[in-house]
Amino acid sequence: MKEKFDYILQVFRSLYHFGELVPDITYGGDRRGRIHIRQGDTRSLETNQHIDIRETQVIWKPWLGESIPFFFDSSDSDLFVENEGNWDIRFDLIASSFFLLSGWQEYFSETLDQYGRFQYSSSVQYRLGFTRLPVVNYYFDILRTVVEKAYGCSLAPVLQEKQNRFTVCLTHDIDTCETAWLEGSFAALKKKDFFTPVRLVLKKIFNRDAWFNFAEILALEQSFGATSTFFFLPTRHKNMGIKNADYDIRRPKFKPVFKMIQEHGGEVGLHGSIGSSTNPDALRVEFSTFPEPVKSNRFHFLLYDSKVTLKILEETRFQIDSSMGFAEHFGFRNSFCLPFRPYDIAGNRALDFYEIPLNLMDGTLQKYMNLSPEQSFDEVLKLLHEVEKFGGVLTVLWHNTHFSAYKYPGWKELYEKILTHCKKEQAGMLGCSEVLKKFLND
Ligand SMILES: [Zn+2]
Repeated sequence: MKEKFDYILQVFRSLYHFGELVPDITYGGDRRGRIHIRQGDTRSLETNQHIDIRETQVIWKPWLGESIPFFFDSSDSDLFVENEGNWDIRFDLIASSFFLLSGWQEYFSETLDQYGRFQYSSSVQYRLGFTRLPVVNYYFDILRTVVEKAYGCSLAPVLQEKQNRFTVCLTHDIDTCETAWLEGSFAALKKKDFFTPVRLVLKKIFNRDAWFNFAEILALEQSFGATSTFFFLPTRHKNMGIKNADYDIRRPKFKPVFKMIQEHGGEVGLHGSIGSSTNPDALRVEFSTFPEPVKSNRFHFLLYDSKVTLKILEETRFQIDSSMGFAEHFGFRNSFCLPFRPYDIAGNRALDFYEIPLNLMDGTLQKYMNLSPEQSFDEVLKLLHEVEKFGGVLTVLWHNTHFSAYKYPGWKELYEKILTHCKKEQAGMLGCSEVLKKFLND
């Protein structure tokens, strides 16, 4: 467990301002540091085995008003105790953190959907009902509390400032920006609205498509002092029966769009096309031939295979990925709400890029969960409240199409409502690269 313990400790240390402090924390074994974490039954983690949570005893402990699961312990007791200045954490929060953060359940899962995606319904978050909680942040908060007690110090979260109590990472996947006239008209005709198609087609002929709305999105975000990342698809043709872009990224009309995004302090990222998440050559070609230099990626359809995709991202030299989210439900896929370096389970090491997990997508609310924009807002408030507890990051994906009343009425208003709330609550609102820069204190 040494590498895994070192990894979790490294992630923990990246979350707070430690200054000169190097706390003496030990885990299992004979030596007992000032803070000692009891090791549970971690044989399955050490021998690279699938862990079936149904066969595992789960012990729930209260922390910050919520019930938090522990997966590797066999007896219940207090979370931690003090003995003459030494602190004993009696639950294996290292193994539980590692299990969730590393995506262990996905790596060893046999039940994938038709596109090779790990399914929400197979997840431990779904089965035990804690998708809405960033459980790993709770574990780290327990550890932080013990460090503070043991050393008489106060550890502030790195992204939390007087002005910004928490952060919202704003992103847009651009799948479609040329066919509002077609898709919007079709949606209108279904409602027996014959006027909208005429308007959309005229707009297309005389000006630009209604979904070519980058200036509108940027102006809206600017009015809140917010910036964002726009992920563009470099491929047009269909793959595996899934549509890629309805536009050609190489056309000259995109040059001024990229410029405008950058002038607004935003970021242009790559939206990895269908197939590129499992094909290193395909992703490398998209990365090297993209018309702008890019640092960040998110895969179209959130296609992701943890056995191969992580290494492909590292090899392609992305700095950031933001694909780790459940399409079917909002919340925390790795049970974590801050940037982290993903773990290479086969190589037993941390990978050399950062994941900014995805938490909230418009399509999840609208399509998968069938919620109205009004119903969705209550759920968003609860998610923001969780992130706020830890000075964390909530990553939001709003497609450009959802800023238009054609086909998606009401969703732009919800986005505005979220930004209004976040501004009032003093949240920083930034794109992926800016979030990471702040997190690393660059
Ligand atoms: Zn997409």
